Amino acid sequence: MNAALAPETNTSVRIERVDTLLVDLPTIRPHKLSVATMDGQTLMLVRVYCSDGTVGIGEGTTIGGLAYGGESPESMKLAVDSYFAPMMLGQDATRVQSLMARIAQVIKENRFAKSAVETALLDAQGKRLGLPVSELLGGRRRDSLPVAWTLASGNTSKDIAEAEAMLALRRHNVFKLKIGARGVREDVAHVAAIKRALGDQAAVRVDVNMAWSETDAAFGMAALADAGCELVEQPVASAAALARLVRRFPVALMADESLTGPESAFELARVQGADVFAVKIEQSGGLYNAQRVAAIADAAGIGLYGGTMLESAVGTIASAQVFSTFANLQWGTELFGPLLITEEILATPLSYREFALDIPEGPGLGIALDEDRVAFFTRDGLRRTISVAR
Ligand SMILES: [Mg+2]
Repeated sequence: MNAALAPETNTSVRIERVDTLLVDLPTIRPHKLSVATMDGQTLMLVRVYCSDGTVGIGEGTTIGGLAYGGESPESMKLAVDSYFAPMMLGQDATRVQSLMARIAQVIKENRFAKSAVETALLDAQGKRLGLPVSELLGGRRRDSLPVAWTLASGNTSKDIAEAEAMLALRRHNVFKLKIGARGVREDVAHVAAIKRALGDQAAVRVDVNMAWSETDAAFGMAALADAGCELVEQPVASAAALARLVRRFPVALMADESLTGPESAFELARVQGADVFAVKIEQSGGLYNAQRVAAIADAAGIGLYGGTMLESAVGTIASAQVFSTFANLQWGTELFGPLLITEEILATPLSYREFALDIPEGPGLGIALDEDRVAFFTRDGLRRTISVAR
């Protein structure tokens, strides 16, 4: 190539600034899980500013503060401000995998914060190249994703009314029930009543969030199969217990909390500990790792489901971009996080229709924040962001 016509080399694009903020948003109703009741969701948003003018955004969330795992939105902000950002400043913004590998060398855990940062880098790179994130990850295989809804009001008749409303709107026809906070028999009666009310119009699944003993699970899974429930998610905590329960009952067993990235996915596959993996970008430690988890599932003949950490639109679309590249997605997704939040934080809302989420086609994540709305809900507005200047 004629040197005069050669494109500017990528190495000229540097990371100039990394900002983080916490955004507190209300939920449409209390969301009851065995581990916590959520009345709101807190987002840790990260913005990566690059020398070519591109800005990437990423998101980290948890379910119920520290109720789910070792990271919280506040700890993610601290980790990004104090440890990730100083490593990222001045680095080549276009070498996303390489930069994430360098970060992984000095930051051992913090999978959720890594996912947020990687999302922002991929968003910026996609905007730079004019490509959706899915195309940076090998190319999308689908343009929309089926989305299950979680019924978690804690009240049977309220849950039935909510499910019927979703069916009438043609927004969801797969329902996941959060159980495990009450006794097993009470929970099974709750699930059976909902399945009876919805009949063949809808699929019913449950998520126990590790609340059961193995004995509870053996009783519960048999009773749930009888009630017409098609899938039980993480009834017990350990991979060994999951492996003892799998295929004993005519109901699929899905691993969620046990999946903390490729290594745990490999171990679960090795012990045949699940029929289905709930893949989450934050639990996996980022989008590339989510693809590695999916590859392990495919190789082991394990089904795939696109999970959520109840992210807002940013993390939801980051998840959708990577899930769209999966060879198999037999159990659909639960990417409903933005619908659980009362406030719209995007300039153009996401499109949920015909029981599915449309994946944006624009460059990067393909979404834009409504900056005024984000600023309004940012915690401690006066001291809004901590800028890490070079
Ligand atoms: Mg779960």
